[in-house]
Amino acid sequence: MPLPALPRIDRLELAELVLPDWHPRAADGSCVVLGYVVHHPDGPVVVDTGVGRGNRLIEDLYHPTVHDLVGRLAEVGVDERDVVAVVCSHLHFDHCGQNAALAAPVHVQAAERPVAAEPGYTVPEWATLPDEQWRVVDGDADLAEGLRVVATPGHTPGHQSVVVSGGDDVVVLGGQCSYTAAEFAAGTVDEGDAHDASWHPVAVESLRRLRSLHPTRALFAHDRAAWSPAS
Ligand SMILES: [Zn+2]
Repeated sequence: MPLPALPRIDRLELAELVLPDWHPRAADGSCVVLGYVVHHPDGPVVVDTGVGRGNRLIEDLYHPTVHDLVGRLAEVGVDERDVVAVVCSHLHFDHCGQNAALAAPVHVQAAERPVAAEPGYTVPEWATLPDEQWRVVDGDADLAEGLRVVATPGHTPGHQSVVVSGGDDVVVLGGQCSYTAAEFAAGTVDEGDAHDASWHPVAVESLRRLRSLHPTRALFAHDRAAWSPAS
């Protein structure tokens, strides 16, 4: 059920990474890390929490410039204590790094948790929360009126996106389903953005599915550009 009107959605600039030589996107030089807050009538919902602090490996590999999620929320008028839910698109280190800054329940796909426990997948302490704080979702689920999580595997086995519907608008918060708005427009996924080669067709299918929802806007975790049908 869509909301009567689309709630405000603010972009949160959470970090900037310097990409190492071996990274599939190394030619870009750097990578922005974005989260979003949906000002839902039931309370603010945060999608992705960016990069955490204090992990030596991540600092050596990516030289991150980290912005505090709580400060970014305050800039858009949200007190972190009022956040009612968090959705992690996936549990890579740059999407769950500040989960611990919020007390709200964190929604993650069931398929994401076992893979997140594998060595080298993420920063374990950033992807760890008290059991009672997790909300494990298996597939698509309505979180609230006009707010749905959609399973979009491919970049990772348990990647998910958020779809916000209000009035005549459908906004996709696509996480890393597409690395760029241009790729969303083209319906293509770079092989390097799939979990591994076997997940590439799965990622392409997830993108097709999101596009089939006829979004009026789509926003991403690593591209400031928004996609819209006219773009
Ligand atoms: Zn990722």
